[in-house]
Amino acid sequence: MTEGTKDSILNELIAMSHHLGEEQRELLIIGEGNTSARIDDDTFYVKASGNNLRTIAAEGFVKISRSKVLKLLESNATDADVKRVLSESRVDPAVKSQPSVETVLHGALYELTDARFIGHSHPIAVNAIMCSTRSQDILGHLMPDEIVVCGVASVYIPYTDPGLPLAREVAKRVKEFQSKWGEQPRTMYLQNHGLFAIGRSAREVQNISAMAVKHARVLATTYTVGGPNFLSEHEISRIHTRPDEEVRRNQFK
Ligand SMILES: [Zn+2]
Repeated sequence: MTEGTKDSILNELIAMSHHLGEEQRELLIIGEGNTSARIDDDTFYVKASGNNLRTIAAEGFVKISRSKVLKLLESNATDADVKRVLSESRVDPAVKSQPSVETVLHGALYELTDARFIGHSHPIAVNAIMCSTRSQDILGHLMPDEIVVCGVASVYIPYTDPGLPLAREVAKRVKEFQSKWGEQPRTMYLQNHGLFAIGRSAREVQNISAMAVKHARVLATTYTVGGPNFLSEHEISRIHTRPDEEVRRNQFK
């Protein structure tokens, strides 16, 4: 993939945000969700608080220094520290918009993974599962295409207080995922909260979000017809390592 210029990255991020925010996709309403894009080794764009993804424009994003914002993960930061460090992490201090506290989580994902675009949403279908007593069933695989798009496994985050506690829990679980699977996570499900699509491109974020919603809808429906028939580990690893599926995976990237 060719590296885009800062402007083209921002344009792609805006288009991706509008796509995720379209009402008929039922991924988010009002000011829910947030999106981001990696710019270079240190900086990334993230949605500023209070913007609606469906209508967001360039001014709705803030450019953040990852090395600065990730200092919050190391320290026992108070609420006042969080506010100050988030403000100081803005590359352009003249920009008045406040980055949301979930900026730390986005920064951690850029630090730990190969993500170039990230989309976080609260899809109705996904949250119907994530807010149920069977939320971990979301980790079972039901269809080959879901493995191709969403990955051989997904990261599961038990309910955690949004903000720094959530960012720390995500960092811990992403590292565990990487050492277990030897690859990057693409899909992360948050109990009683929502979905993160961790993409190498804006299109991959859109594909993961759409497939996670389909997966959740199919899963919910299986309970009305006897319950889910999850694919076996053998079947999953077969799909995941087949050369033709690798070709398809790269086409979707
Ligand atoms: Zn959220």
